[in-house]
Amino acid sequence: MTSPAPKKLFIKTYGCQMNVYDSDRMADALASHGYVPTNELEGADLVVLNTCHIREKASEKVFSELGRLKELRDERRAAGEDMMIGVAGCVAQAEGEEIIRRSPAVDLVFGPQSYHRLPDLVTRALNGQVIDTEFPPEDKFEHLPAPKKEVTISRGLTAFLTVQEGCDKFCSFCVVPYTRGAEVSRPVSQVLAEARNLVEAGVKELTLLGQNVNAYHGLTESGRAMGLGELLYKLAEIPGLERLRYTTSHPRDMDDALIEAHRDLDKLMPYLHLPVQSGSDRILKAMNRRHDRDEYLRLIERIKAARPDLALSGDFIVGFPGETDEDFEATLAIIREAEYASAFSFKYSTRPGTPGAAMDNQVAEEVKTERLARLQALVTEQQRAFNRSCVGRTLPVLIERIGRQAGQVGGRSPYLQAVHLNGAVEMIGGVRQVEIIDVGPNSLVGRLVAQAAA
Ligand code: SAM
Ligand code: SF4
Repeated sequence: MTSPAPKKLFIKTYGCQMNVYDSDRMADALASHGYVPTNELEGADLVVLNTCHIREKASEKVFSELGRLKELRDERRAAGEDMMIGVAGCVAQAEGEEIIRRSPAVDLVFGPQSYHRLPDLVTRALNGQVIDTEFPPEDKFEHLPAPKKEVTISRGLTAFLTVQEGCDKFCSFCVVPYTRGAEVSRPVSQVLAEARNLVEAGVKELTLLGQNVNAYHGLTESGRAMGLGELLYKLAEIPGLERLRYTTSHPRDMDDALIEAHRDLDKLMPYLHLPVQSGSDRILKAMNRRHDRDEYLRLIERIKAARPDLALSGDFIVGFPGETDEDFEATLAIIREAEYASAFSFKYSTRPGTPGAAMDNQVAEEVKTERLARLQALVTEQQRAFNRSCVGRTLPVLIERIGRQAGQVGGRSPYLQAVHLNGAVEMIGGVRQVEIIDVGPNSLVGRLVAQAAA
């Protein structure tokens, strides 16, 4: 008897790293049901769009993609084949039935809390359209299979690990508390087991993920809540694990234990994504961020005192309702003061159901466009200055791949900068001391410091 040919699964991932992690978990969940991941859309038996709802543009992209998928499926059907179409992620959670109303070709709509039920949902969808956007009482992580070692190896030397999901902060611009639900932390033992499994499979760098990762408070086996700082100390004990990162954090949740972890743990990279969104106290209040400009700047000072080589990254929103020129200038001023090695910046996007959407003093699109360009010019200038400041420094670089040119390898600095240097393929997987000798538009050029220092 021959086993049936494996079915092909194509997942297109939109949005943040948490969706990247979720897409891998969906592939793991479906692996035991005969699905193998493919990078080719043509020929896939199941296509899943893992969507993002954070800004309007991100969610609208999904509907245009669904139009293209319908055409592809019509062609496949005309050729006597078939293809199932699924929509996952935050658009699925937020729009539910509306997706099937706008795109009737969709077979399956399921939210981020349903991924462990995916094999069952796919089976049900063979008999008619299925929508699952419940927040089930069971822990989905308990039910998701552990990442397979051979799958993990193909994912490389760096991996994401979701430790926390959802958010209780309700910033007035943000859909996350509605699409991902209340804040939940995975138990400590589950996180440590998954981390060990990944490291055993060859992963050298782990990035802990959460919509609000530093609010982590997972339970230990004795039922005590453990914060992110303490969790990082535990993870740093795993032999073979070289680097730890975490993202994304809220300033209010940077507690003393976490700051101490930055002071004590060499494995914890000195690079912190700590969004402030705006530099105006008036706007921060309207955003319900629950801290002001000075508190943020004092916090940065404390973290940098603990870890002087720490570099900052951030997120900014321009054109939040009611933002005046003066408020915007205050945002530019906090950027100048805090100094960022990199930053993400967005025009405010009205999200239905959030308090911001109901505010009547929305900012005109042209004003947002102009402010975003000014802000991005400033952060680009800061990023270039930071990259230039690395020239002459010796940085540990995780060598991840062979370079584009013969005899070269490429890797990442502690600050996530791409670094190229002359080296051999055997160096891949190791952390090497590299002197930075030049800076290109998107990467640094380095040279290996004496082998003994590696
Ligand atoms: N938890 C993080 C924090 O508190 O800073 C943010 C996570 S959020 C998923 C990622 C980023 O998307 C935010 O930092 C914000 O800059 C941006 N964002 C969220 N909602 C937005 C909106 N309605 N319009 C524009 N940007 C938005
Ligand atoms: Fe959204 Fe972050 Fe605010 Fe939570 S803390 S509501 S994820 S911006």
